[in-house]
Order: sequence, then C-alpha cells, then structure tokens
Amino acid sequence: KSAGKSTWRLYRREADQSRSVIARLSWKDRILDALKHDGFELHFQGIYHAADKSLAHLEALVRMKDAQSPGEIIMPGQFIPHAETTGKIIEIDRWVLHQVVDLLSLRQEIPSIAINISGRSFDEPGLPEYISRLLASRQVEPRRLLVELTETAAVSDMRDAQRFIDALRATGCTVCLDDFGTGFSSFAYLKQLKADVLKIDGLFIRDLPVNHDSEVFVRGMVAMARDMGKITIAEFVENEEIFNMLLEIGIDQVQGYYLDRPSREHPSLMR
Ligand code: C2E
Ligand code: MG
Ligand code: MG
Ligand code: MG
Repeated sequence: KSAGKSTWRLYRREADQSRSVIARLSWKDRILDALKHDGFELHFQGIYHAADKSLAHLEALVRMKDAQSPGEIIMPGQFIPHAETTGKIIEIDRWVLHQVVDLLSLRQEIPSIAINISGRSFDEPGLPEYISRLLASRQVEPRRLLVELTETAAVSDMRDAQRFIDALRATGCTVCLDDFGTGFSSFAYLKQLKADVLKIDGLFIRDLPVNHDSEVFVRGMVAMARDMGKITIAEFVENEEIFNMLLEIGIDQVQGYYLDRPSREHPSLMR
C-alpha cells in the first residue's frame, strides 16, 4: 500500500523479522521528535511525612504528548523501555533535570523535588558535575534536588553505580534508591551503595495487608535502614489500611493514591 496503487510485493520472511527493528526505529523517531518539539510534560506527585501527612517533597514524573492524538499522553511504562534501548533516556532525563532546576530556581518556597535518573547514566561520569554546575548557575541549593536511581539498573554494574552515587552525593544532592527490593540481592547492595534514602518498591506495599512475606520484608528493610541512618519511603500507598500499617512499622515517608495522584498542577505548586 505504501508504494502506491497497482503495485505488489513478494512476501519475504526477512521483512517480518526486521519488524521489531522498524518498531524500535519508529519509537526512536517519536522520542527524537518529542525532544525537538516540546513533546514531553511533567506531572508531580507528593511524598508526605507519615507522622503528620505534611508534604516532604514532590516527585517529577515524565509523560510524552501523543503526537497522533492531541491532548492524550503516553505513560512512561510505554516509552521509557524504548528510550532506554535507544539511549535516548539520557536526553529525556536531562530535559527533566533542566525543567525541575528552573522550577526550583523560580520558586524558592518549594522545598525539594525528586527526579528519576536511569541507570543508563551510570557510565556517564560527567553527569554529577553537570548537575552541580547547573544548580550553581541557577542558584539552587543542591539539597533541594533529590535524585532517584532504579535498583535493577544499578545492580548490573555495581562499581559504576557506586562511583556515580559517590560523585552525586559529593555535589550535595540527596540520593535515593528507587524501587528498592526488586533486584536479586538488595541486602548486599544496600551495604555497598551509600544512598541517603530508600524507596521500597510498591510491589511489597500494595499487598501489605494480605501478604505476610511482604510485611516481614518491609519491617526488615525499615529496621535496617533506621540503624544505617537512612530515610525510608513507601510507594503505592493506596488506602488507609496500608498507611496505618506503615505508620506502625515506622516508615518515614509515604507516596501513593491514598494521599494524591500525579498531576500537572499539583496543589503545592499553585500560588
Ligand atoms: P517510579 O519512579 O517508581 O514512580 C512511581 C510510579 O508509581 C509512578 O508511575 C506513579 O504514578 C505510580 N504510583 C504512585 N502512587 C501509586 C499508587 O498508589 N498506586 C499505583 N498503582 N501506582 C502509583 P509513572 O508515572 O507511570 O512512572 C513509572 C516509572 O517510569 C517510574 O517509576 C520511573 O521508574 C519511570 N520514570 C518516570 N519519569 C521518569 C523520568 O523522568 N526519567 C526516568 N529515567 N524514568 C522515569
Ligand atoms: Mg521514582
Ligand atoms: Mg519508585
Ligand atoms: Mg516503582
């Protein structure tokens, strides 16, 4: 059809096999296009102190505008895997970084905002320095920027991850291990990587009331983190029952639909 009317092609098996490559190229093109033409937007979700439900900070979560259907957005679960395989995630993360640092610079009353950085960046030794200079140029105190790193990516190269985290902490930013507990060796990992904050994966939180193993795990994590002087956050806090269990367990901070949903215009950003 694409060759025009009244033409035909022989079916070739290779054409079918290269389809996954074509699919990846088209995602890459969509991502490149979005990077060029303001095709991303940020939503913000609150992280709250468990003790009194007051706001601790915000997490910036990226979405892609759907170029094919205006007004619709594409969730990160769909495009981030493609951004990672094509290497474009580095540029997306930098776009988010710039947006958030500009916002922090403009709005000095906002306490702090977390961004997500893909483990693909660990072999980019210049990134911590880049962040540091950006913060200085916008007169934003480094402690107002939190950087969440995903564990699965970190585990794949422990030494790169460690070097990256050390350099990042040296700039004064707060470093958080995101989705903690989903890797295969989270305890060994915790001992080696010196992060400030542990965000326990939602997998262990959402079924807390009905899964005893999850409860044992979360209790263990929180107790150990406390002994190590780290802050703990639980994500996917969806209802009051989960919230109350976490409060009893002694979690520091909570994030989830029970408290608020990610939105473009988070109440705490409105003046
Ligand atoms: P994450 O960093 O673990 O973010 C938490 C995800 O859980 C968000 O999904 C959030 O909307 C969702 N969530 C929050 N509370 C609840 C709840 O109570 N129940 C349920 N079921 N879900 C909840 P989202 O926004 O779709 O983001 C998915 C993932 O995409 C993020 O997981 C993060 O790994 C990645 N991501 C998002 N923005 C960026 C970015 O700028 N850069 C990179 N590298 N990754 C990003
Ligand atoms: Mg995160
Ligand atoms: Mg997370
Ligand atoms: Mg998660």
